[in-house]
Amino acid sequence: MNDISGLFGIQYPIVQGGMIWCSGWELAAAVSNAGGLGTIGSGSMYPDVLREQIRKCKSATVRPFAVNLPLIYPQVADHIQIILEEKVPVVITSAGNPKMYAETFKTAGCKLIHVVSSSKFAIKAQDAGCDAVVAEGFEAGGHNGREETTTLCLIPQVVDAVSIPVIAAGGIADGRSMLAAFALGAQGVQMGSRFVACEESSAHDAFKQAVIAAKEGDTHLTLKEITPVRLLNNPFADQVKMAYHSGATNDELKALLGRGRAKKGMFEGDMIEGELEIGQVSARLGHVFSAKQIIDQTMMDFKAAVQKLSL
Ligand code: NDP
Repeated sequence: MNDISGLFGIQYPIVQGGMIWCSGWELAAAVSNAGGLGTIGSGSMYPDVLREQIRKCKSATVRPFAVNLPLIYPQVADHIQIILEEKVPVVITSAGNPKMYAETFKTAGCKLIHVVSSSKFAIKAQDAGCDAVVAEGFEAGGHNGREETTTLCLIPQVVDAVSIPVIAAGGIADGRSMLAAFALGAQGVQMGSRFVACEESSAHDAFKQAVIAAKEGDTHLTLKEITPVRLLNNPFADQVKMAYHSGATNDELKALLGRGRAKKGMFEGDMIEGELEIGQVSARLGHVFSAKQIIDQTMMDFKAAVQKLSL
């Protein structure tokens, strides 16, 4: 057991990212039952949906699980109320400053993790009272930091900047990449893309198939002027590239993105018009596995990689 598994009462220091449209109760419960920390992604859920998902998760696992809470979510106060009422053990905040909510969660006995993309934000999260940070590098899918700091550069800097445990994210999908993150000083890993292409993920099957078919260079960080996001190449991503080439303004980019594109692609399986958020590591996935297979294999490969290094 290390600081991360001890802090959250989990068997292995593996956190499942709270990817919107992919992370419902089935995935969260399956990851927690397999010994990791499963996460419900609340960013794509209306408040009544979130409450239902939390209740289903509680009935499917007795183990700790988390809710990812993007602080830019329009009804964040409603989500916090539900998280407190339902006594969710762990909250992972992202996309904002956790300071104004930290005391509320701590008083309720809820552990708090915040997702950061720089050591500056990690220090702020620590000062706010967070129990741990997820430090997420440039390789990660979906919403991303503006500085484009890679996981290899980010993790040691964050580890040196804070005294709370650091969970590495961005480019991590197996035991070898987990060991690399540990060598950089992380005490846990968060895997997102790996759990998108997972049997229990609520992503549309067409999206899962596109993810496991992805090759090197098939994702790009884009829309930095609005919210930086890493997308899988598809006709919609091509439209975005063309808009940049023709010098589109921010308002034109926003109009092109429109509303509900991520749902269309990731949840409804529209591979043409949808926004497909996924990390660079999609090029290494190859198959859709169950959550248990992913966690067991990751731990097995991690131990084998440790052995190999010590020879
Ligand atoms: P859009 O504005 O394009 O669309 C909103 C989507 O969220 C719709 O599909 C809508 O579903 C759904 N939704 C759920 N709850 C609400 C609500 N209270 N009000 C309005 N819409 C809601 O946003 P995105 O799809 O790009 O992102 C959705 C959310 O996820 C945002 O809060 C965003 O910040 C967050 N997010 C978080 C990420 C992270 O890293 N944690 C990554 C990407 C997004 P419906 O179509 O059924 O109305």
